[in-house]
Amino acid sequence: MAWYLNHYECYRCSEHWTDEWSCMCDDECPNCGARHATPIDSEDLTLQVLAEAGEFVVVRSPDTAEHSPDYEEAGRFASEALAKRFAQLGAN
Ligand SMILES: [Zn+2]
Repeated sequence: MAWYLNHYECYRCSEHWTDEWSCMCDDECPNCGARHATPIDSEDLTLQVLAEAGEFVVVRSPDTAEHSPDYEEAGRFASEALAKRFAQLGAN
């Protein structure tokens, strides 16, 4: 599994909302309660680059994540460019 930020648009009231989840799953509208709204867009948050005390840390959501990302450190770099390069390679 991975970690996603899903974007939803309600088919009944056109409400927009986002939700983080371990899959691209359907959600319930927070405004009118319509069920089984399907994500219209999804951002992959499995790998994230975080700045920490002058270093750049790449964290990864492990396959075991279900209800939270459970980020684990995957690598630590001196520059943001290196960290992003690592994250791109890791995502493929
Ligand atoms: Zn709605």
